[in-house]
Amino acid sequence: MLSKALPADERIRDAITAGAIRHLLREEDPRLRNFQLCNACGSCTPYCTAQINDPGTERDWGYLARKVTAALQAGRCPDIDLSDCVQCYSCETACPRSVSIGGIINAVYEAEHAQPLFRKMLLDRGCLPPPAFLPLYTGRGRFRKFVAKAALRPSPVDARAVDEVRKMLLHPVRASTFSHPGGHVPERPSAPPDRVVHLTSCCAFNYPGSDLSQRAILTSLGIRYETSGMQTCCGGAPHYMGSAGFADRLLLTARNLSVFQDTPGAGDEIAITGICPTCSDSYASTLKLLSGNGNRAAVNEVLGRIGRHVGDPGVFRVANILDLYPLYLDELRRLVETRLSRLRVGVHVSCHYRKMNGSLAVPPGLRDLAAVTGAKVVRSEMEHYCCGGVKNLFDRHLTFPVEGLSRLNQMVYQDFVQQHLDVMVVDCPGCELVYDHMGVPVLHITELLALSLGADPRETVRIQGHLTSLKPALGRIGLL
Ligand code: SF4
Ligand code: SF4
Repeated sequence: MLSKALPADERIRDAITAGAIRHLLREEDPRLRNFQLCNACGSCTPYCTAQINDPGTERDWGYLARKVTAALQAGRCPDIDLSDCVQCYSCETACPRSVSIGGIINAVYEAEHAQPLFRKMLLDRGCLPPPAFLPLYTGRGRFRKFVAKAALRPSPVDARAVDEVRKMLLHPVRASTFSHPGGHVPERPSAPPDRVVHLTSCCAFNYPGSDLSQRAILTSLGIRYETSGMQTCCGGAPHYMGSAGFADRLLLTARNLSVFQDTPGAGDEIAITGICPTCSDSYASTLKLLSGNGNRAAVNEVLGRIGRHVGDPGVFRVANILDLYPLYLDELRRLVETRLSRLRVGVHVSCHYRKMNGSLAVPPGLRDLAAVTGAKVVRSEMEHYCCGGVKNLFDRHLTFPVEGLSRLNQMVYQDFVQQHLDVMVVDCPGCELVYDHMGVPVLHITELLALSLGADPRETVRIQGHLTSLKPALGRIGLL
């Protein structure tokens, strides 16, 4: 069933030749805002996962952006395989003009409703339930791990919230209802907050230890955190997989903001944290859009149907862990119980965190946090690149039998081996999935931090749920 829902090349090509691109050109879709600015400079192409995975295009700098944008402008089919786009948005962060080729491709997916299954899951459960991830657990004892995780996963979304989501999304809203609000960037926390909203991430299903570790760290730092059963999926992962539409994601996230603002005791500033940069980016993008009065009015018209309203976006702070925990480096250093000094780690900062920051530069947060644990952090020449992307991972697993590693995966894997690393450290449960699947021992930064703060590797970090064993690395340094 899942494989039928994939955005098959033919369907996308048909969509384009049948006029989807012409149709898109008439839209006021914020994703299409600046595609005319592309001058085929090629700055984006070296980082484009689709380009790296296609050896035939190695020397054709700028080919992807040039072909997609030229085809959009001419109303014809681009001569590339759009389903190879993994929605990493490296193109957007690399582009000096912020042209988003990934966003344009996403708009084509949406125009065709090519992959409706995840949207249906959202309407039924308010989140991505365990079966959404089942295709990734085929072979070599993985199904057993899936069952163990599913048995321990409580349904995180309240039935009333699911009902609201159903009413809200039943009649899809067009992306062209909204406009790009300009350059407003939502604020990050500038000072340590004493209270945060901790998001329940759908992707935490795969790594429950990252969520438990996050809670343990917040507690150790004395930061009060709240969760809410009225919070649903932000729509991020389904959106980038080509399932939930642009407006779906905006409305889901805006509805969650209305839940947080109505929480008893919510102060003048509401800091939102969680383990997933795709969630952070969903909130950052939504707050940016809500800063436009017209967009806010359109969102509140839909929220009004379920008795909700989102107020001033200026009260919210997106406190992604890579922005939040660096505010506490001294405290964390003092709290470390077990220095992980014999561990050689590489760090991989997620594309969606960099998308949120609008910069391809690797920010220091992840490196600084890994260093706090005492681990030896080794820089990598691959650190500017996507790990291969969770969409690519899904696509390969849904095309049974699973083919070998993608070209980018191979480069990332070779880099891991050549640097003699013990573990890769990531900030994203999606990247964690990709590394774990390619046979690289991997820890989410919350898991690494929690280990150094004395958390139990099995009870809290749940290393037994990882697909690639962490026993050699953790056993060697005496943690097991
Ligand atoms: S999308 Fe941006 S970086 Fe890529 S070729 Fe066009 S202008 Fe250059
Ligand atoms: S989102 Fe990623 S894979 Fe898609 S066009 Fe942009 S860089 Fe390439």
